Amino acid sequence: MMTQSLTVETLTNFIGGRAVKSASDRTLPVTAPLTGEVLAHAPLSTAADLDAAVKAAAEAQPAWADLPLKDRVQVFFHAKAIIEDELDALAERITEENGKTLAESRGSILRAVECLEFAASLPQIAAGSVLEVSRGVECKTARAPLGVVAGITPFNFPFMVPLWMIPMAIGLGNAFILKPSEQTPLSALEIARILKEAGLPDGIFSVVHGDREIVEAICDHPGIAAVGFVGSTRVARKVYARGTAAGKRVRALGGAKNHLVVVPDADPEMTASNVVSSVTGCAGQRCMAASVLLAVGDVEHILERIREKMAALRAGRDLGAIINERAYERITGYLDRAEANGARLTLDGRDAVAEDAPAGGRYLGASIIDHASPDHEASCDEIFGPTLTIIRCQSLDEALAIENANPYGNAAAIYTSSGGVAQYFADRASAGMVGVNIGVPVPREPFAFGGWNDSSFGGGDITGPTAIDFWSKTKKITTKWSNEHQSNWMS
Ligand code: NAD
Repeated sequence: MMTQSLTVETLTNFIGGRAVKSASDRTLPVTAPLTGEVLAHAPLSTAADLDAAVKAAAEAQPAWADLPLKDRVQVFFHAKAIIEDELDALAERITEENGKTLAESRGSILRAVECLEFAASLPQIAAGSVLEVSRGVECKTARAPLGVVAGITPFNFPFMVPLWMIPMAIGLGNAFILKPSEQTPLSALEIARILKEAGLPDGIFSVVHGDREIVEAICDHPGIAAVGFVGSTRVARKVYARGTAAGKRVRALGGAKNHLVVVPDADPEMTASNVVSSVTGCAGQRCMAASVLLAVGDVEHILERIREKMAALRAGRDLGAIINERAYERITGYLDRAEANGARLTLDGRDAVAEDAPAGGRYLGASIIDHASPDHEASCDEIFGPTLTIIRCQSLDEALAIENANPYGNAAAIYTSSGGVAQYFADRASAGMVGVNIGVPVPREPFAFGGWNDSSFGGGDITGPTAIDFWSKTKKITTKWSNEHQSNWMS
């Protein structure tokens, strides 16, 4: 297995079905957030490495696309079986490189498996349509792959986010090149190994490690037809602009600032538990994490339960590690400055002692910045840590106005026991994914994952039905079978 030999060496790219050394002499250490230990060095690949990957992909893709769709998707059944067999080892690998808890890693793998299952159903869901459009004249739609496509992914879900894209893209007959986060590149090589073991032909899936240089090379490369990107808004915007300027399809998902609204008729215990999981899951390092709580009217009893539950969480046991020193400094910076402009730091995660955690890791407890104004930096910026900002509101409309004014639009949720209030909020929230009594409203397959506004560039979603259209193009074939000589405008 690849896992053993990779851990202390410079990683290789995966091109044409085999490990290939990068031409670059630039590398970055891959550091375990839990321990601070250097696990490997990631090569920062060059445009020449990318060229080699595109060449291998372009050579392999036509034969792959020639296979019937029903044959291509067989690989997903085998991959699912391998992943389920290796669930614990894969979860350990994700936890090792990313720092999230083992339970969180396992959950992310199971979610990735759902994406494989959905793609395995492509023969059923992507069947084209046929209609007799005029006497003896038939129109049908056929789907064609785009050719060689690429995906660029963030550090926070190194196994799941790549699998949001890969099954759909390769299932539809494309060859896919993955550029994983240079901070968490190990899971990408596990995906390569699993797909190869599952029977995917060489060249159809490649991994090219690297940083900004290789991302720009992907955007510019004339041999790449489409790019899927998931990461921060700053980079999503750049990748979208650069990739589309080079004539590619680009779907780029960005960052988030998710608002949860709590109204007085919310169930206190359920709301408190659910809000806390949303804020602290993956130590707040997920794009669906609750970030701002809009407290409408008298909900003090619920806020107090939230505070108690967050205070009871232990860093290193209930909360995983923070990815790197820069992220740690960014999050603690917000806490250092929290009390500016009248806000109160009512729970301070900087005090957390990670008793059960290995030494050398970066841990933070959960924090609450309460009584913040809507223009406080903690109310506006994506902090990406286990921190909840609370803004007090007089009415649901005031809460909605704050949610609507934020530039992001990934998720928004309301806690209420009133159907009418829930519907009122769902109709007006400016977010692509809305929760009612659920703080991480991730739509499961066959529903699609994707935000709005500055959380998404290029329209459509990254998973689900619109991904079928993104990773393929349709051909409309019009045929006249009848021997009739009658002439009309379709003759
Ligand atoms: P990031 O934007 O820093 O990195 C994402 C990818 O872009 C990486 O592969 C990285 O190598 C590359 N990259 C980084 N800087 C670049 C630059 N200047 N030019 C070109 N490429 C560059 O994101 P991250 O820190 O790895 O991940 C966290 C971010 O991802 C958060 O903002 C989070 O909200 C977002 N995210 C969004 C979703 C979503 O579905 N919307 C899902 C997961 C994560």
